[in-house]
Parts: sequence; C-alpha cells; structure tokens
Amino acid sequence: MLEANFNEMKSKILIVEDEAAIREMLGYTLMKEGYVCQEAADVEQARAIVLKDRPDLILLDWMLPGVSGIDFARRLRSDTDTRNIPIIMLTAKGEEDDKIRGLDTGVDDYITKPFSTKELLARLRAVMRRYSNEGQLGIIEIDGLVLDPETYRVTARDKIIEISPTEFKLLHFFITHPERVYSRSQLLDHVWGQNVYVEERTVDVHIRRLRKTLEPFGFDRLIQTVRSVGYRFSTR
Ligand code: CA
Repeated sequence: MLEANFNEMKSKILIVEDEAAIREMLGYTLMKEGYVCQEAADVEQARAIVLKDRPDLILLDWMLPGVSGIDFARRLRSDTDTRNIPIIMLTAKGEEDDKIRGLDTGVDDYITKPFSTKELLARLRAVMRRYSNEGQLGIIEIDGLVLDPETYRVTARDKIIEISPTEFKLLHFFITHPERVYSRSQLLDHVWGQNVYVEERTVDVHIRRLRKTLEPFGFDRLIQTVRSVGYRFSTR
C-alpha cells in the first residue's frame, strides 16, 4: 500500500473565484475526483497560497474584485518561479475577445461558465497530461545525482542506486521542489496522496531509508531536517 503508483500522486489545484457558491462547487467536485484543493476569493489570497504552497494547476476566474484574473495570470507568467504553473481561466459567456487576449498571456485553456463537471474534468486532465509529459520526459540532474522518471532509475556519479518506489517518489518530489521546507503531513499529501492512511512517522522512516541509500554517494546531506518543522531538499 505504501508503494503507491507514481502516477497516483495527488495533484493540488488552486481555485481562484470570488463567487463562493461556484468556488465551493468546484472544490467539492475536484476533491471527489481525488484532487487536493485550495481556495482563494481574490488575487491577494491566491498569491499568498502560491508563494506558500505551489499548486500544480490554477483554476482562475477572469472577473475578480480588485486585480483581475488575467492580470494575475500575466504576473504569474512573468515570474520565473511561477511561470510553469498551468492555468485554466474561467470566463463568462460571450467574452470571446477576452479569450484571445488571455491566450496571448499564455493561459493554457478556457472554460466558459456555465460548464459541466465532465467538461471541467476533461480540460483539467488534458492540461495536466500535457504538463506531466513535459515534466516526466526530462531526466533530472543535480550535482551528479540523476533521476529518470521514466525508468524509476537513480544514478549517482554514473553508479546505479538501488531504490524502492516510495523512496524514488520522495526523492523525485524533493528534487523537483528544492529549497523549501515541507512538514510531514505535507509530504504525506504530496508523495503518498491525501486519501492514503499513513502515520506521520512513516515519513521519518522513509527519509531515513532514503538518506541511507544516498549516503555512500554523499547525497544524504541534500535532505535536511528542519527542526520541529519538517524536511527540505537543498544543495546549499
Ligand atoms: Ca467572478
């Protein structure tokens, strides 16, 4: 049960929508589908969430009080840290001109309100698939530590490291989210998935194993314990 499939990693979706009824409906629908949802009623809240806990995709309403959705999308695209977060815009009917404007901004797709759950999920999956394919094709390398998500193979300075699927997922998560501290419960959500019942100390067990696996190559130092908070992957 711990060795969950790599593809089953729960994706985190940030819903930015000022109308509470729509926001809650979206959250409920996506949660039922196994996504982890975060909700924001305006750009200010959304920005705080993005900085604190980078979402895998943003569902972004166009018409928001204060800063509009499209201006927020533009900001996200211009910042190297947030440039690669997929964005699906929610627009009202008849804003065709706006759609064109938005596509210029680099938004990934559009959903026109009102929309069906089926359409929402289909578009969401399509965008996610596009990104995850792009993400997974690339072999990740840091300081001679190489991860190949296609083969689950890890090599350290050209030597193959024997690694279990869970340790691989943990290492893959760390290496793709460097320099940030994650609590045990955040790691459980990201690596094991939210609907899996695992105790928090399980994280410690796997961190210990992962460090042991990496130790002969000196890479164990990349996984740092942050006292009373959690863990961080850092090359510094
Ligand atoms: Ca709105």
